[in-house]
Amino acid sequence: MIRMRRVTKVYKGNVYALEDITLDIEKGEFAFLVGPSGSGKTTFIKLLIKEEEPTSGQIYIADANINQLRKWKVPYLRRKIGCVFQDFKLLPHKTVFQNVAYAMEVTGKSHRLIEQQVPEVLKLVGLGHKLDAFPDELSGGEQQRVAIARAFINRPPILLADEPTGNVDPSLGAGIVRLLEKINSTGTTVIVATHDKAIVDNFRKRVIALENGRIIRDQDRGVYGYE
Ligand code: ADP
Ligand code: MG
Repeated sequence: MIRMRRVTKVYKGNVYALEDITLDIEKGEFAFLVGPSGSGKTTFIKLLIKEEEPTSGQIYIADANINQLRKWKVPYLRRKIGCVFQDFKLLPHKTVFQNVAYAMEVTGKSHRLIEQQVPEVLKLVGLGHKLDAFPDELSGGEQQRVAIARAFINRPPILLADEPTGNVDPSLGAGIVRLLEKINSTGTTVIVATHDKAIVDNFRKRVIALENGRIIRDQDRGVYGYE
């Protein structure tokens, strides 16, 4: 599903954010991307959605080399990839329902389908009773669930989450990852970038560990690392 071959990203100022990354993530996998702040996790995610371009190396998504993707095709790539961020990125003046519905509207889905599917997916994330609430009326954990519903509403084959528990009460972080696990169980490939050790150790999934832009460990059913 995702293949990286010798991917390096150098930012201006000669900052090596990622260096010689080669890996495969198969369809339906759940992987944690871990590492301290500055290790390259967000850059990894930005390369997959073509928000940044690699300096060298090749990236394939579903067998298509995205380096060669024409600019006008990038929105189609992004439809295949749902994204969840640390700061939720919800639209503050739209309700929970409208925030999720918006993701369907921009892809041209019918009013009927929206009315049917948005409540369904919000129920899936445990917010079936909050359809008319505004983001500022929700806890961090609830806002992140809305963001996950929005990322998942168009059933993308890949879901990327960048520090999804970073602004969520620590006691609710595991619930967020359980939700991502539930989405993964529908066949969606899920990658979670995080430096939340407790979460990673609890879930025992594949762990890809970055340090200074390099993969230092890639382990099935792993833990965060050594103290
Ligand atoms: P992480 O998400 O693991 O904290 P990042 O991918 O954000 O890591 O950053 C990796 C490295 O790249 C860091 O040294 C960071 O300062 C640097 N970096 C990230 N974005 C930019 C940018 N736009 N310009 C220059 N350097 C950047
Ligand atoms: Mg980051």
